[in-house]
Amino acid sequence: MIVEPNGVIGILGGGQLGRMLATAAAEIGLKTHILCPDDHAPAYDVSSAHTVAGYLDEYALAKFAKSVDVITYEFENVPVEAVEFLNNLGAVVRPGAKALETAQDRLVEKEFARGIGAETAAFHPVDDLDSLKAGLEKVSRPAILKTRRLGYDGKGQTRITTQDSDLSGAYEKAIEFAWDEVGAAPSILEGFVPFTREISIIGARGENGEIKLYDPAENVHKGGILRTSSVPAAVSEATAEKARAVTRKMLEALDYVGVIGVEFFVLENGDVIVNEYAPRVHNSGHWTEDGCAVSQFEQHIRAVAGWPLGDPARHSDAVMENLIGDDVKSWRALAGEPQTCVHLYGKREARPGRKMGHVTRITKKS
Ligand code: AMP
Repeated sequence: MIVEPNGVIGILGGGQLGRMLATAAAEIGLKTHILCPDDHAPAYDVSSAHTVAGYLDEYALAKFAKSVDVITYEFENVPVEAVEFLNNLGAVVRPGAKALETAQDRLVEKEFARGIGAETAAFHPVDDLDSLKAGLEKVSRPAILKTRRLGYDGKGQTRITTQDSDLSGAYEKAIEFAWDEVGAAPSILEGFVPFTREISIIGARGENGEIKLYDPAENVHKGGILRTSSVPAAVSEATAEKARAVTRKMLEALDYVGVIGVEFFVLENGDVIVNEYAPRVHNSGHWTEDGCAVSQFEQHIRAVAGWPLGDPARHSDAVMENLIGDDVKSWRALAGEPQTCVHLYGKREARPGRKMGHVTRITKKS
């Protein structure tokens, strides 16, 4: 299925990713229609049409489906039921329900990664205090307890560092505290990976199965939130190839169409451990807008529209820095910096931890 120029891409979700997707679509002569529950969403400013409706509003979904040629999403917590409902109406949703469903549950995602032969952190499913205690016996400590569903940007997760040799009762308390921290929700306990760096691969798979991968980016997180992504990443070619191989396998196993973001931990010996994947364009791929001829946003639109994929080659080195909360107040100084591309998301209010924009500083390719 190919969307011709002037065709319409439907996007579920209206955040900054939807905004950048809509802008990229417009650049190649495609229109966008956003469906999002928010009255004011960053993507509305730059799209051809928008519908304010919940993701499970069947009437709105049916009307939306009729107005577009293909549907994608910019938000991995879109209910799978919405995608299934759209599919039942005959609408094409890319990437498909399997990619979304697998990414929405950290346990299913880890099992999937293991299933394609990738390494992951040691993990144990947790449903109550007893399974949490059993998990702590199994995975090394320190450990991280994460909710299976609806976690993002470090939310819905907590670390457990106390050792059980502690006789003061602190261990028991730490376990109860951690369980409380994740809201006593079905969770997964992960062993802490002693990584030397974090990298990610932004990859794309087209309708015809062709795969194109961007260079790995090296990512720095603070408080669970991405701060910077840099290319080139300081990893060997062998490490980069290991990460690329996993990404290719994931794209194929999910029969994926669109852009995926896969996050990895890199170990001292150069091996890569999959942390998670996002079935959408990814924050660690924002540098591609200013560092490549075809950005991840255009690449995703090309893929879901059934177009040939673009060249992912990097023409510049780049460091992308997120503007979080009040960081955005320095927009004026940033806009005056040489070789700095400023991107602001048009959000009305800067709250702590909220991604308000990003800057990408580009330099000559090394
Ligand atoms: P996540 O929400 O899974 O992407 O986690 C956010 C960040 O927490 C990651 O990018 C890492 O910096 C850190 N983190 C998450 N899981 C682990 C782990 N098993 N071992 C070490 N660090 C982790």
